[in-house]
Amino acid sequence: MRPVESRGQLIEVTDRGLYCPAGGFYIDPWRCGPGMRAVITHAHSDHARAGCEAYLCAEPGVGVLRTRLGAAAGPDADDDAPGEAADAGRSAAVQGLRYGERLTIGDVAVSLHPAGHVLGSAQVRVERLSGGGGEDRGKVWVVSGDYKVEADPTCDAFEPVPCHVFITESTFGLPVYRWRPAEEVFDEMARWWLECRQEKVTPVVFCYALGKAQRVIAGAVRALQRVGTGQRVGTGQAAAVVAHGAVMKLVEAYRQAGVDLPPVQHAQAAEVKAAAQRGEAMLLVAPTGSDHTPWLRKMGPVSTATASGWMAVRGTRRRRNLERGFVLSDHADWPGLLAAINATGASRVGVTHGHVDPLVRYLRERGTDAWPVPTRFVGESPQGGEEEERPGPAPEGPPERERR
Ligand SMILES: [Zn+2]
Repeated sequence: MRPVESRGQLIEVTDRGLYCPAGGFYIDPWRCGPGMRAVITHAHSDHARAGCEAYLCAEPGVGVLRTRLGAAAGPDADDDAPGEAADAGRSAAVQGLRYGERLTIGDVAVSLHPAGHVLGSAQVRVERLSGGGGEDRGKVWVVSGDYKVEADPTCDAFEPVPCHVFITESTFGLPVYRWRPAEEVFDEMARWWLECRQEKVTPVVFCYALGKAQRVIAGAVRALQRVGTGQRVGTGQAAAVVAHGAVMKLVEAYRQAGVDLPPVQHAQAAEVKAAAQRGEAMLLVAPTGSDHTPWLRKMGPVSTATASGWMAVRGTRRRRNLERGFVLSDHADWPGLLAAINATGASRVGVTHGHVDPLVRYLRERGTDAWPVPTRFVGESPQGGEEEERPGPAPEGPPERERR
């Protein structure tokens, strides 16, 4: 471990990620190794890496983290078999901590607080206990991980945590990013679904398999009930929504954690095609990167869309040859970032992931002591992140293919 910045701080930046020397643990390390203890904000692949000795995460996220660590090798996008999570993740030492519960590690108290991003996502609160009698005693840092402030029925709502120093993400840290209410987006999605039924094609939504997929499943079914009066949501025992195996694994983890999702079944080509032919097309939810695969071609005639915050960026949809884009993000938009930062009351704000410089500049101009927190991903291709929404080097940002 080599601190590359801010030596002597409660949380330091090292070449393996954020490190708390007083507690001897990393937060979302991007490189794991033997003997390393990691506190994980959430199970997206650029925050949760396999190979550490022990993991601590919020209790509702234990199942998805185990699933993700087990699948770290990553199936191909068209490898569609669900329930084949490798055993590696199951055997990793993953400890759950209830939201708000305090755990003493070394000379710090650690607690996890809902970040509203995906199931089990947490902000990590670190409080210095004795501080060796120095001025650090009682100092509180909070590392946000990814977060959103908008309500999401599939995970606990973001909770502001008062602190002295707040390290915030900034994926969509530009004033142009302002999300419409998700309910409006889902209504739009449901109307498209109905159009697809009329045209006897299957609507396919590409999205991140962890978090966004479950939010889409919950939101789209609810919206179809709202806007599709008289439409059958499902046929008999059949679900109205079907999904790729990679999504199904995580749907199962969500259900096991007690999240109430509408019926969703593993997509079988014959059923998908037959339902579309009957004018009762099912919504097919598939992971980003599964477009243009043999798996998708088996599903018959489709209409394709992506659900992502990046759909707000002109050009993305065109370059990916998508028929539709639904602007739906699991990250805070610009007003959301500022509201969250203000709510912490923090006098110092570290900014990481995404549009760092504009947010740092804005905060400094209004008198907040803000600084950029480097990550491994700065200046790199976004293609390393399988599931995360991440700006690329070009202004238009979004990755062509999120999978490695
Ligand atoms: Zn994330």
